[in-house]
Amino acid sequence: MKVNVHFFVNDDGTGLTAGNGASNQLEQRDVFQKADDLVYFANQYMEDISSNKQLNQIPWGADTTSAQCVGLRFLLDEVFIHRDSNMDLINIGGHNDQYVGINYRDAYNILAVDIRRASGYAPRQGRYMVVRSFDQQLIVHEFGHSLLLEHTHFGNSNGDDNCFDTPWYKWEYDRYGDGSVIDSKKTCWNVSNRDASGTDLCTPNGTTVINPHPCCDSSTVNNNVMTYSAAAQSGSIAALTPCQVDIAMTELLKEKCDLIAAIEPICKPVSAHIGYKPNTDFSQDCSWTFYLRGSTNETEHRISYQKLQPDGTYSPFLDSDWLPGRAREERVVVGDDPYIKHGTVRLPSNSTYIMTLTTRNNCDTDHYRVEFTTGACDVGDQDDSPNPGPFHTEEFQAYPNPSNGPITLEYGIASSAEIEIYVGSNATNSFELIADISGYKLAGSYHHQLDLSFLPNGAGTIVVVVDGYPFYKQFVKQ
Ligand SMILES: [Zn+2]
Repeated sequence: MKVNVHFFVNDDGTGLTAGNGASNQLEQRDVFQKADDLVYFANQYMEDISSNKQLNQIPWGADTTSAQCVGLRFLLDEVFIHRDSNMDLINIGGHNDQYVGINYRDAYNILAVDIRRASGYAPRQGRYMVVRSFDQQLIVHEFGHSLLLEHTHFGNSNGDDNCFDTPWYKWEYDRYGDGSVIDSKKTCWNVSNRDASGTDLCTPNGTTVINPHPCCDSSTVNNNVMTYSAAAQSGSIAALTPCQVDIAMTELLKEKCDLIAAIEPICKPVSAHIGYKPNTDFSQDCSWTFYLRGSTNETEHRISYQKLQPDGTYSPFLDSDWLPGRAREERVVVGDDPYIKHGTVRLPSNSTYIMTLTTRNNCDTDHYRVEFTTGACDVGDQDDSPNPGPFHTEEFQAYPNPSNGPITLEYGIASSAEIEIYVGSNATNSFELIADISGYKLAGSYHHQLDLSFLPNGAGTIVVVVDGYPFYKQFVKQ
């Protein structure tokens, strides 16, 4: 299922996303990674719950069914930052129409917004959800509503979800322990069973308790994704039932077939996207960043630029060739001085370009294009050049070279960074992530012995990716 994720900033393009939202305010540069994480964790949750069974079916009069595989995953399609102060804080159902209209109809839309009095909502059978946090269960729960799933915790006809295998949880209880039964929230959603005032609901203060709080009994643990319970939030406990998945999949194939990226359990589809901040002005800015993280499942990516010629045709200008791993960021600087060092790419001023990101894995490929015209800039004249990052280029070594055995890799970083290390053969152009030495690293110097026995003899490349920026070292295996 293709999904777009939408973020909102002030009308003038400044500010954090989601206005005053407590849980989801983000710097603009961080939203691309956040969208990526949202999809990753929601997918992980759907995978995890596929081995879990609905609890407490018998005590609540439901048919007993086994664990149900959830055959659904999200694929991130595009990430948007909109200028719209009105979306800082909205009421349920408010001000969404323009973001789910014709422009975004080829993907399901997730709007990250501060909502009043709800963590999220999604209209029944709709093509969007609005969420105020990025919780994995919330995303899957709201998507469930879009696929006709109802809450399972209301024991009344309005809440009937047409499934005989989901328990209807309904209770009344003596909230204050004073002998009067109160029909309160019909769901156990509080792990500690304490209410907002701190009262332990399992041992109310009064003496003539008619019914203790139902959540005090393990038979009321509701682990269904379509409830609000604490158990439903955990991928290791939560579940959907066979009936629910049947309803959801039927609805998906009937009403949302056009949003499906691929039906393929083994080969994951790839996507490509080029994002940038809403106030980016290509004709005025002398440097900016393209965020390429809105692309998933690729094992290789390629970035190319074509330049508009005086005769109106485009000719190749720059081509990265295939690079290992996921696309991350491209820092563009504009200027005619060929010795400009910062930035991952330098583009001459007063010219028009088409930038193309192509992604692929062993069974699928996708691409995305952005066209823009640079202004009269020379970033070489400016003092406020972007920080080159924490990598110590002078410490970056690989030896012995050539080598007929392992190679020692040395590098250093001035501050903590996310490090990915790839090794590959130039002839086959396939690169392996060396997982055990990749990951989040603190500032310092690092030495690793790389086993090259999996590579053919000949020229190869070590790639150290530091917070998304690659550094290359060539070597020869003998
Ligand atoms: Zn709901």
